[in-house]
Amino acid sequence: MSIAQRVALVEKLFHQLEQESAQFEQASGLSCVSGCGKCCTYPNIEASPLEFLPWAFHLFLNGEAENTLNLLKKTQSKTCLIYKSLSLTGQGRCSNYKYRGLICRLFGFAANTDKYGNLRLATCKIIKEGQAKKYNSTDEAITKGLHVPVFTEYYMQLNQIDFHLGNKIVPVNKALQMALEEVLHYYAYRPSPDSAKKCI
Ligand code: SF4
Repeated sequence: MSIAQRVALVEKLFHQLEQESAQFEQASGLSCVSGCGKCCTYPNIEASPLEFLPWAFHLFLNGEAENTLNLLKKTQSKTCLIYKSLSLTGQGRCSNYKYRGLICRLFGFAANTDKYGNLRLATCKIIKEGQAKKYNSTDEAITKGLHVPVFTEYYMQLNQIDFHLGNKIVPVNKALQMALEEVLHYYAYRPSPDSAKKCI
């Protein structure tokens, strides 16, 4: 499958998740604290290269893929390269939010299955403690059937697009690097996609 076809399928999956997440956010009343980007600063975020293929393709179309790949190869930091810190107290933001990965879209507003087979909302300490009442009632509502996006279900759907790139879970900066390498290798011996797409 071509890069463009895989990108379209990943974006379709993201769109599906956006709709599901919006319904869940509305039902739960939970929300991120404005300006908080703390979850992006965790040094142990892991992701698959495939979920960053739309990001890598976007950079490629805008002539930024090679420079960004070089930056990733040089960086010693484990924090996601896309994260831009705005203060020392955890304020910050994703500098390419539109092209964030699947893990970024799921974390906070999706559930994992615990060892007893029950769905448990996977969210951050800031939401758990700052919105404790809503968090507890949402957790309980999930056990009674409130619909919530589920990590494993989304990753299974991602794997079906490209098992090789979707099933590999690596540190986030490695995932970014592998996504860029996939796009650059693909177009090394093929004509570049239509330049009309340059402003995607
Ligand atoms: S891609 Fe954006 S949202 Fe995802 S971890 Fe990096 S900075 Fe955060």
